[in-house]
Amino acid sequence: MSQTSRSRVAALPPEAFGRRLLVDCPACGGKAVIHVGEPGERPVDAAARRLVCEACGLTRDQPATPMGVILDPFMGRAPRLCAETRHGFLVAWNEDHLDYLERYLAGGLREETPAPEGGVRNASIVSRLPAWAKAAKNRDEVLKAIARVRREKL
Ligand SMILES: [Zn+2]
Repeated sequence: MSQTSRSRVAALPPEAFGRRLLVDCPACGGKAVIHVGEPGERPVDAAARRLVCEACGLTRDQPATPMGVILDPFMGRAPRLCAETRHGFLVAWNEDHLDYLERYLAGGLREETPAPEGGVRNASIVSRLPAWAKAAKNRDEVLKAIARVRREKL
């Protein structure tokens, strides 16, 4: 890919991909999905959720998190899509999030377009990426790590 290829993604808030989280199954290590319920007035991390393993069928429920309790959106499991590089690792919450990161990071010239409904109130996903992940000199290594995660974990 040439250094001047351009990538453009919509600016999205961090919770954009937060309704479906991939983790390793606590029973078999296979791909498990945490389905997040309607958050209502509360942050999405506090909503009730159900873990379902696609490999062994294990199901676990977690009720909505009471106010004041520290939130663990991944129900104590490690995120499944974790792209490791020499500089650190990038976590994607699900397949769409991984695609989004890959699409953005693949371009030599990268742009975010504001969301149609008036933009992102909080810092966007892209703005929260670590500097090493966005550094041009690390691009090939980061994209390789993303490709490895896709191959081994999806
Ligand atoms: Zn399982």
